[in-house]
Amino acid sequence: MSTSSELAPIAFLDLAAQQRRMGEALRARIDAVLAHCRFVMGPEVVELEEKLATYAGAAHCVGVSSGTDALQIVMMAEGIGRGDAVFLPAFTYTATAEVPLVLGATPVFVDVDPATFQIDPASLRARIADVRRAGKLKPRAIVGVDLFGQPAPWAELRDIATENNLFLLDDCAQSFGGSYAGRKLGREATATTLSFFPSKPLGGYGDGGAILTDDAERAALYRSLRTHGEGGTRYEVLRTGMNGRLDTLQAAVLLAKLDFFEAELARREEIACAYDAGLRDVVTVPARVPGGVSAWAIYAILLPDTAARAALQERLKAAGVPSAIYYPLPLHRQPAYRDHHDGATLPVSDSLAERILALPIQPELTDAEVARVIAAVRG
Ligand SMILES: *Cc1c(COP(=O)(O)O)cnc(C)c1O
Repeated sequence: MSTSSELAPIAFLDLAAQQRRMGEALRARIDAVLAHCRFVMGPEVVELEEKLATYAGAAHCVGVSSGTDALQIVMMAEGIGRGDAVFLPAFTYTATAEVPLVLGATPVFVDVDPATFQIDPASLRARIADVRRAGKLKPRAIVGVDLFGQPAPWAELRDIATENNLFLLDDCAQSFGGSYAGRKLGREATATTLSFFPSKPLGGYGDGGAILTDDAERAALYRSLRTHGEGGTRYEVLRTGMNGRLDTLQAAVLLAKLDFFEAELARREEIACAYDAGLRDVVTVPARVPGGVSAWAIYAILLPDTAARAALQERLKAAGVPSAIYYPLPLHRQPAYRDHHDGATLPVSDSLAERILALPIQPELTDAEVARVIAAVRG
């Protein structure tokens, strides 16, 4: 006799199962790199850049070492630094705020929408006004983050950027494969940054990232910055850059995985719809961004309060169902960032951090496992 608690635990991310599914394609691509030995800037990097640009409909793609380095290269290219204000959501991964600080700029935290969790245009306008009123920082850039697989409200963000003469960057680390207003993400801002961290919808087997842009001059600058600011010849140094290249082996893994990507996105959508149908009468299921299609990096439900969330997490754990909290602390409350915060209240970010819970949504989940997750949440 077996009860649900005796079933094998469900995996939040199962990279071993992924390899059983695509192993042959992966090994062929990796073997090709081992054979040609061009481990840095090999032909797979160029091939991947071309395929990603085509996928997103962007004119240029520059492969880089991580999503964080992608953000840094884009901000370096704009000369963002000391005295500059960079507006970004308080409810996002740490890297979005870390990069402006590394460059000497100041992150200005913006609240998010309580239903979609995306940056809130009304809060963004208020925060730009706050910075202008205080008169200490120069408003320079907005980072719209496509959170959890869904797009940020790009039409509004573009209006605000234009009105205020601000550089607009899309941190699409979590959401490559998603779309907005009928087109794939990658062209909503002047530059779009991607991450290939293993848990992202298009994940490699190590660190990796890319930058998409339609601007040829910026693309050339990004290529220079990722290789120590090099000029036309290897030992001509035009500017201060970094070592920010994408490894050939990661590009090879990603090329193999790209062939499975659309089917994986479809499977994630199927799981999300099953969760919606099975859970919407017992918890708050994620609202869709108007005009958006999600890549479903994360499927997050909302509980009434922290106690209800803790109780549910315990019950899920007992049933072998993993869950995770993205994010337990909004960035304006992080020890590393709170001293850079001007003290504005960001009540939605605070409330989400107390009530949000992510359920497993990786494409390896079987229908039986999806049903187990639903049954466990319903208790
Ligand atoms: C993962 C992530 C990053 C950083 O990507 P890395 O490849 O891990 O450096 C940046 N922004 C957001 C929103 C992310 O989720």
